[in-house]
Amino acid sequence: MNFFERSVRRARIAYFSMEIALRPEVHTYSGGLGVLAGDTARTAADLDLPMVFVTLLSKQGYVHQEISSDGAQANRPDPWSPADWAEPLPNMVAVRIAGRDVWIRPWLYRVECPLGHAIPVLLLDTDLQENEPADRRITDVLYGGDDAYRLKQEIVLGIGGQLILRALGFEIEKFHLNEGHAALLTLPLLREAALRDGDQSSSSLRYDTGAVRRRCVFTTHTPVDAGFDRFDYDLVRDTLGDYVELETLKALAGPARLNMTQLALNLSGYVNGVARRHAETARKMFPGYEISSITNGVHVHTWTHRAFADLHASRYPNWAHEPEMLAFADQMDDASVWTAHQSAKAELIAHIAAASGTHLRDDRPLIGYARRMTAYKRPELIFSDIERLITIAGEHPFQLVLAGLAHPDDKGGAEAIAAFHRHIRRLDGIIEMVFLPGYDMQLSAALVAGCDIWLNTPLPPLEASGTSGMKAALNGVLNLSVLDGWWLEGCVDGVTGWSIEGSPPGTGDGSALYAKLEDVVLPLYYRDRSRWVWMMKQAISKIAPLFNSHRMMSRYVTEAYAR
Ligand SMILES: *Cc1c(COP(=O)(O)O)cnc(C)c1O
Repeated sequence: MNFFERSVRRARIAYFSMEIALRPEVHTYSGGLGVLAGDTARTAADLDLPMVFVTLLSKQGYVHQEISSDGAQANRPDPWSPADWAEPLPNMVAVRIAGRDVWIRPWLYRVECPLGHAIPVLLLDTDLQENEPADRRITDVLYGGDDAYRLKQEIVLGIGGQLILRALGFEIEKFHLNEGHAALLTLPLLREAALRDGDQSSSSLRYDTGAVRRRCVFTTHTPVDAGFDRFDYDLVRDTLGDYVELETLKALAGPARLNMTQLALNLSGYVNGVARRHAETARKMFPGYEISSITNGVHVHTWTHRAFADLHASRYPNWAHEPEMLAFADQMDDASVWTAHQSAKAELIAHIAAASGTHLRDDRPLIGYARRMTAYKRPELIFSDIERLITIAGEHPFQLVLAGLAHPDDKGGAEAIAAFHRHIRRLDGIIEMVFLPGYDMQLSAALVAGCDIWLNTPLPPLEASGTSGMKAALNGVLNLSVLDGWWLEGCVDGVTGWSIEGSPPGTGDGSALYAKLEDVVLPLYYRDRSRWVWMMKQAISKIAPLFNSHRMMSRYVTEAYAR
């Protein structure tokens, strides 16, 4: 039996995600949600879990970021070559979209674990001769196009993905909806659960929704209301036809517009947020639903720099499979920790020099800030008082490296990138600063290992979890972050990193950040190296054993999948 036949026979859990970060060359992700899905798949392979992953092929990728000289982000397609990384499967299914049959064919990608197990990922493709030209483009651009395009993509993902799994012979017991994009997968399940005449109880629904709920697990990833996909029912009627009657959809997905989050909440028997605070926020947003909390984690083998991986391997050969062992990382000797860190930093500095021509120094603290450029992440907070920043840099020189993509429709995100470039020009010769274009998982890995300080300044409570800070901590890079998302659970101020507190919420006031930098973080770097290294070891030994994807998946298995 080959790998795929064995997977078909074994898999009982199907994980549906609009995006997944498999490797840098495969452009099927935009940011944190996709990286989490990728880390989930890598962990599923490590743990040999009976899982299959379903996503879109996104052959034109998300956004290839190029920055013009005035700091404007040009949004180019970011194509990749499926044939180099995946294998087309012969099976095809058709879904009805806007009155036409749209054929879908999956590509098979193998996520391999170093221990030898592998997990299948199905990448759905509509670029087939059988389809009309417009339909061939449905699986082209991740998060591209208008509402109509997005709805078609979500039909392909949810309904098409269900049909493909059946056509391939999978017998799935649990469906995991990674964010609301996948919520339409509930509709084929709902149709299966149609009650026969006579079974109908007092409920106006003609379906056994309990049967669907027993099979679905929903993870919500954002408390930002604008982040929920909503579709006008006119559009739904034109696109989805009467796959399920409108009256039923309205009862399950909201009366005014089809709200994918609402649909997922109503048809999932287990719902969770991605950190304790996020689950609390979600309970307030969705009263009446039981919402659990499983804090995200990162795949330690993927995100630990080679220099630290070698150190761990010399002490605990099985460390990547048993990240709990990293609780003992505080026993590492200071010199090897510092040497490992400086080698990761030297690599990043060399990369920055090659990419930008800017030569940073390895004896000055390097602050990193890289994330999706969007308003609630407040990318400009560190520049809210330039004079203050200059004063701090005069007392304790530091360097700053920035990166991040803006969604093509996010004007605020594009403006933040342009503002970064204005600040870099204005502070030329005063503060060493550089913006690296093309933030992806490869650049992310270099940044979270090679900086000294990892900055995060979201507006609470809008950062559901955040994961880049976990990656930083794995590498002894110290988080300086607003208390929100996972950091509320991971921060011991002055031990595992630092909190930024006290900024009046809703303001762009950076004074708390400046105070912490000026009074605590930068002086420590210059004056007490041994305390700094002690903190690095505290960060690794307290954060890595907990905020890893093995712990996260063990919790999904025991709390969500096994119910
Ligand atoms: C880890 C990662 C993210 C998520 O980081 P946040 O802390 O949630 O902002 C986003 N993009 C890439 C490329 C990553 O590697």
